[in-house]
Parts: sequence; C-alpha cells; structure tokens
Amino acid sequence: MTTFNKSFTQQEPIPEAGIERAVAVMRSGRLHRYNAAAGEATETELLEQEFAAYQGSRYCLACASGGYALHVAMRAVGVQPGDKVLCNAFTLAPVPGAIHNAGGVPVFVETTDDFTIDLDDLEHKAAAEDVHYLLLSHMRGHLADMDRLMAICNRHGVIVIEDCAHTMGASWNGKKSGSFGRVGCFSTQTYKHMNSGEGGFLTTDDDEVMARAIIYSGSYMLYERHLAAPPRDVFARIRFETPNYSGRMDNLRAAILRPQLAGLDEQCRRWNALYRVTEAGLRQIPCLRLPERPAAEQFVASSIQFSLPDQREADIRRFLERCEARGVPLKWFGDADPKGYTSRFDSWQYLGEPPSLPHTERVLATMCDMRLPLTFDEADCRLITRIIAEVCDELFSSAAPGAHAN
Ligand SMILES: *Cc1c(COP(=O)(O)O)cnc(C)c1O
Repeated sequence: MTTFNKSFTQQEPIPEAGIERAVAVMRSGRLHRYNAAAGEATETELLEQEFAAYQGSRYCLACASGGYALHVAMRAVGVQPGDKVLCNAFTLAPVPGAIHNAGGVPVFVETTDDFTIDLDDLEHKAAAEDVHYLLLSHMRGHLADMDRLMAICNRHGVIVIEDCAHTMGASWNGKKSGSFGRVGCFSTQTYKHMNSGEGGFLTTDDDEVMARAIIYSGSYMLYERHLAAPPRDVFARIRFETPNYSGRMDNLRAAILRPQLAGLDEQCRRWNALYRVTEAGLRQIPCLRLPERPAAEQFVASSIQFSLPDQREADIRRFLERCEARGVPLKWFGDADPKGYTSRFDSWQYLGEPPSLPHTERVLATMCDMRLPLTFDEADCRLITRIIAEVCDELFSSAAPGAHAN
C-alpha cells in the first residue's frame, strides 16, 4: 500500500537574500521600525512602499498580524460598538474575532456550493437599514463575483473590507484582490503566501482611513516617516483623537519579506501548477465534487477544497481515517468538534446563539481541505490524488464491501 511521507505544513526556507538582510538588521541593532540611521529608510518603510506598488494601492501599512490588520481596518472605517458587520459564515476565527475586537456584531452570510459568499443572501442582508459594513473573506482563495458583489454593496451603501489572507497575488478580471473594497487586509503568517512567522498588511487609497490606521498601529507622532502614507496635513485632524493600539511590524520581519515579495508572482505560478495537477487527479474521482471556478477568477491556489456531497458523516470519517493512515491528512469542516484552525461559525459561542445558516451547514458538512505547500512537486500531487482515489474506491465504489446501497 503506497503512502505519502511529506508534511503538509512544511514551507520552503526563507530566501537567502532575506536571511542576509535579516542578519544585517540584527547586526545594526535597529530592529524597531522607527529606529533609523540618519537619512536611512528602514526595511519596514521600504516594504510598505513596495507592497503598495505591488497591489496598485496608494497606501500600505505593515503590522503585527493579519488579524490585527482586520481589527484596525474595522476601527479605521468607523465601526462603532454595537454596529452590525456582515461577514462570510465560512471564514477563519480571526475574522469574527476582529469584528468583536472592534465592538462590532458579526452578521453571517451564507455560503454557496462553490465555497464563496452567497450573493443572494448578501443582497438580502445588505438591504437592512442598520447594516453598513461587510468584512469579506476570500476564504481558501475563492473569489465571489466581485463585480456583482460591489454593485450590491454600493447600492446599499455598505463599505467593504477585504480579507485577502488567501488571495495575496490573486485578481478578479485583472483587478487585484484587495483593491475592490475600501481596505484590503493581508497576512504574512507562516501558512500564507509570504512567510514572516507573523505579520500583516493593510492597503487603501483613502487618506483618512490610512492616517487612522497608522496611528492605531502605534506610530506615536512618527507617522511622517511612512513612505506609503497620505500627506501630513491629513494627520493633523486626527492625531489627537486616535488611540494607539500598538501592533507594528519590525525591521527583521520586513527584511525577510522584501525578497519574498519580489518573488511572489513566481510562487503563485508554482502553486497553481500544483493545483492544476491535483485538481485534474481529483476530478477523475466520481464521489468527489470540486468547485466551479469562473474564468474571471485569477486565483492563487495554495490549497485545494473539495466535497463528498453524497456521503454521510460516518462514511466521511472512515474516508478521512484511511487517507490519514496513508499520509494524507485532510481538514474536514464538517466535524462537530472543530479541530486545529477553526472555521465553524457555531464554535464562536462568545457571539451568542449560533444563527440558522442551513446552506452553510450543508456545505461545510461534506467539505474537505488540503494545503499544497511549495515543498511538494507535481509527482507528490499525483501520488496524493492516487491515494485519495484508492480510498474512495475502497469505500464508495458500488462493488466494495460495506458500500451502502442508494
Ligand atoms: C490567517 C487568516 C487570517 C488572520 O491572519 P493572522 O496573520 O494569522 O492573524 C484572517 N483571515 C483568514 C481567512 C486567515 O486564513
């Protein structure tokens, strides 16, 4: 019986150029983002400038994490205690956490069979009088129809903040993910598209939003040092009324991110090559369903999702056990006892009684997820899909003993 032996959580090493720069930062002793030698731009300042250029946004703030960027974005666009904030029901725990941290109240929107936010349900919920914000997660890298989504939000006066933790480098119809809403937020945590252990970005074209975000992030009165920031007079109005929620990036992380940003598009190409091989293999397996991805979606598939739409819970458990025994551990979003990184809306009990979201429940019940780290090659992906095919065949083909009749 063939098994797979590589780790699904093993990322590539940091590029040598990043390691060298990080060592230089450590030798200099100037790790704090505002600790510069005379006339010197720090690694953090330069990284912000470079990421803004990459995104095509006017401004960029580097900060401590993706979740921190989301929290600051909520505050900077004006979310007040008690305000309702629409958000995908299928998302990761830091997203409702960021809304809660800003005093907002998440209102979950249903999920389609293709794993994106349900635009009909969004239209319905955005029409409410007291709803003015959407925190949109491009969860697991799946982009909804952004033209229709923005039309809905504009029609109802809903401000959009994009959570691009899984879409750094992706586009919709040639327009970068993160450039549709008022603010785009990104993560550089180890499992995302650039790796600084922890870290995040917030991008926007809005003067006041960025000025507030910079002060929230802990700039003190050093905001003038920022290179991807609005003119100083924008700060004059708000610098005394914006609290410091200290959450800066430091020069060490920025130093290892700058060479990764230079190589990001090539990494995205490599992820998609792995995805195509994996997707082609999984599409051959009759009991699996893969999402339809529209031509307008230029995704970056650092992971792959599929569902087992016709299977009952007990059969899915057996499927997962057998895959795991052969070295292919899959994430299952249907587990009533959420494990690892949590994405089940009913596990966020600090929000009170979970709302009724029958469609999302049905989608999550049979949905599986697998990372595609760049330490894998195409032969690895073929082996993985072969193992999954064999397990499906053992369990679900009509000839197999124990297959249930239907
Ligand atoms: C990782 C992630 C975040 C938060 O990023 P951190 O940098 O870990 O705080 C937010 N949203 C989604 C969907 C994520 O996967």
